[in-house]
Amino acid sequence: SAMRDERIKKTKTVCTYCGVGCSFDVWTKDREILKVEPQMKAPANNISTCVKGKFGWSFVNSEERLTKPLIREGDSFREAEWEEALALIAKRFTDISKKYGPESMGFITSSKCTNEESYLMQKLARSVIGSNNVDNCSRYCQTPATVGLLRTVGYGGDSGSIKDIAMSELVIMVGSNTSESHPVLSTRIKRAQKLHGQKTIVADIRKHEMADRADLFFRPKPGSDIVWLSAVTKYIIDMGWADEDFIREKVNGYDEFTASLQGFTLGYAEDQTGIPRETLIQIATMIYEAKTTCILWAMGVTQHLGGSDTSTAISNLLLVTGNHAKPGAGAYPLRGHNNVQGASDFGSAPANMPGYERVDDPLVRLKYEKAWGTSLPEKPGLNNHEMVEAIHEGKLKAMYLKGEDMGIVDSNLNHVHSAFEKLDFFVVQDIFLTRTAEFADVVLPASPSFEKEGTFTNTERRIQRLYQVFEPLGDSKPDWQIIMAVANSLGAGWNYEHPSKIMEEAAKLSPIYAGVTYERLEGYNSLQWPVAPDGTDSPVLYTEGFNFPDGKAILYPVKWSIPLQFPEEYDIHVNNGRLLEHFHEGNMTYKSKGITSKTPKVFLEVSPELAAERGLRDGTLVRLTSPFGSVKVECLITDRVQGKEVYLPMNDSGDAAINLLTSSEADKDTDTPAYKEINAKMEILRQE
Ligand code: SF4
Repeated sequence: SAMRDERIKKTKTVCTYCGVGCSFDVWTKDREILKVEPQMKAPANNISTCVKGKFGWSFVNSEERLTKPLIREGDSFREAEWEEALALIAKRFTDISKKYGPESMGFITSSKCTNEESYLMQKLARSVIGSNNVDNCSRYCQTPATVGLLRTVGYGGDSGSIKDIAMSELVIMVGSNTSESHPVLSTRIKRAQKLHGQKTIVADIRKHEMADRADLFFRPKPGSDIVWLSAVTKYIIDMGWADEDFIREKVNGYDEFTASLQGFTLGYAEDQTGIPRETLIQIATMIYEAKTTCILWAMGVTQHLGGSDTSTAISNLLLVTGNHAKPGAGAYPLRGHNNVQGASDFGSAPANMPGYERVDDPLVRLKYEKAWGTSLPEKPGLNNHEMVEAIHEGKLKAMYLKGEDMGIVDSNLNHVHSAFEKLDFFVVQDIFLTRTAEFADVVLPASPSFEKEGTFTNTERRIQRLYQVFEPLGDSKPDWQIIMAVANSLGAGWNYEHPSKIMEEAAKLSPIYAGVTYERLEGYNSLQWPVAPDGTDSPVLYTEGFNFPDGKAILYPVKWSIPLQFPEEYDIHVNNGRLLEHFHEGNMTYKSKGITSKTPKVFLEVSPELAAERGLRDGTLVRLTSPFGSVKVECLITDRVQGKEVYLPMNDSGDAAINLLTSSEADKDTDTPAYKEINAKMEILRQE
């Protein structure tokens, strides 16, 4: 019989390409990836993965990986040993903090990294440096959804499980390109449509795959979702279709809320959103007739001036119709990165300690001060959007940023780049020399998920372990080890032998993780927070009441923020979002052959009407110019978009990087950039 090859091994990991949190076994031989094999026991995905999860991993062995620390010398970098890099960081951080105070320093963690790494980054910022200026890239996508839920129901997470979505009678998707952005989750809906006639409603300005499959699809005017949501809610109340029992027992603020809806008549909504009155009535009727409704939403909702308010309006609608605390109902903000949920859960946020306890609550601070043996700053810090402004104002002098290509993914790039240039000292930690790293003084080589252990929390609050597939490449290290080394070079004396020790500490301090241990997360086991001390977890939230002192939810009145207005010459609305095959700026997926052979570059989706009007063909090279910058990209004519609406995927870090166009305007409650509110003018550069 053939000898079993000792070099072949199988390791369980969790995908890093979206918040669905698919887990699977990776088969490897030395550093070669043989195959990705999903398992039936994987809680989020069973035997499914999408193209990214299946083929998106060869970047791990890319020759472009950083394998040594780099130190700036004039216009270029030289390689250095860890000791030298850490000594330099310690000296500069200490000097700057002494000279300008701890508030002159900013820390940014990544929602691609593990929970334990997010925990350590905020601990470093708060307890070693003394600054609450710590944030993560969920600020760019999902913080408004978190705020909308914290206001109304009390936990900033999906209220049920992914598998429950299949049980729902009606699924409403608002501003969510579900089949490209959360592919495996969308297959559950497609299956439920076929198997038990699940109904779906899609509200989007772009006719994507889920729109094609919907029972009802409509296109609100950009940025007007809150208007139709409020009008439908009002209509339901006016018709006597609200769940009065549920509201009486479980909800506060009904009368004030009802009064706040006064202006949202069907006629007003029809005018402002462009959705016919009959459609609005049909939406209300479908919700009324369904026993369970869940609403899924994503960046089409959150990345607006009123992103938090629209998220709140979604939650209000669910409360009025009693769609909570039962499987198949509830709120599903779909988290973008694999660990958007966890990065905020674990306290990498300027106002929140782990588990959403507030930094300005003296009792919370006291608890952490005792545990950490340091005193903590009480004033909430700057978020990443405010950090950019603070650099321009000369208040923020140094930054430590990991795993985030902020110089591509933040809005208004020209403004962000000029801020980076002003920093006295900039440390970037990543797996590649990213566009952002080009501005750094020190670059630290980190390890991707395949080279580390830890946990991620997916969109349904599910905490899952990942195991180490490969040894770190060259001198690169897992982020948690690097943060610990930086902290220790500043005298912290941390001594975590393994990420499990970090989780142990977080579980002791933060009630929502009380019962989380690595043993309970062994293999394919997982836990959905909050987790009681005995390990009981929470697949469906709010079954024992909402997360407020009296157990009642709050109906929270909101107003419409009119979208950004542009001078008439900027006549094209530039929608943007994901492509199935690529991940964000593309640092990882463009280095994975299995992906680039399918989709080598981005293109601009242009409607047949606009193509006819301007003489555009497939492949025509155009320049789009907004008041903030311009991009160059080739056209693809498609009826997914209509009129003067174009769609530019966010997956480019060169001439077509969407954020060369976007502004610095942001959601008024969270500073999440209004990426979706951008207009441009178009000129032809080269005809195909
Ligand atoms: Fe990865 Fe998301 Fe695809 Fe699952 S659906 S394989 S988590 S990108």
